[in-house]
Amino acid sequence: MKLTIGHLYPDLLNLYGDRGNIQCFRKRLKWRGIESEVIPYLSGDTIDFNNLDIVFLGGGSDREQELVCKYLMEIREDFSAYIEDNGVVLAVCGGYQLLGKYYQTDSKKIEGLSILNIISEWEEPRLIGDIILDSSLSSKPIVGFENHAGRTDIGNHTPLGKVTRGHGNNGISGYEGVIYKNLIGTYLHGPLLPKNPEICDYLLSCALKRKYGEDVTLENLDDTLEHMANQTIADRTE
Ligand code: GLN
Repeated sequence: MKLTIGHLYPDLLNLYGDRGNIQCFRKRLKWRGIESEVIPYLSGDTIDFNNLDIVFLGGGSDREQELVCKYLMEIREDFSAYIEDNGVVLAVCGGYQLLGKYYQTDSKKIEGLSILNIISEWEEPRLIGDIILDSSLSSKPIVGFENHAGRTDIGNHTPLGKVTRGHGNNGISGYEGVIYKNLIGTYLHGPLLPKNPEICDYLLSCALKRKYGEDVTLENLDDTLEHMANQTIADRTE
């Protein structure tokens, strides 16, 4: 078995070591004897989504988001078809916002892909700090770090989790991120997956089942270190 991971626009969307999520996908596959390949697509590259099993879209500043927006519009139809066909996507912060209808900054409106029925609007102060969520996708709390000015309204979408510490989508709703089909959009910056291994395995399992059939199972790994990392963040926000 082999999974191919498309890393979209690492030249522009590359904040806070978000690419560590890709390392985590690969390591957890390798530890189970499953091959993987990463294809980085720079802005303007042609992307064949038929070749991809996982797509990763990282975070970027308002400036980078504005630049990347035009390239996203060029791939909009194919990316949307991939998502509707249950393609696996992890989109973080700026990448998450761009899957929605728009991100209104303090000075301009950046058009999004409108794949998710969500909108984001800039507001002071920035929402920064450690964050903890309860999520149906993980038996342990999801822990992470957020840093965003955008407030996101997810409409009728299902959130990734309920905020127990921190701000989440907009600091008011009490929820964070979005789950749509096999896509997770989240404000949790990176790397999110190494300290939340169940989320990593959830996405890997979705990708493997989509490619090789529902019978595929992932063998358990020794996640002692991962759980210690998770607990460290949980303890520090007490
Ligand atoms: N520009 C967006 C915001 O501040 C996203 C920034 C990011 O990816 N950290 O809301």
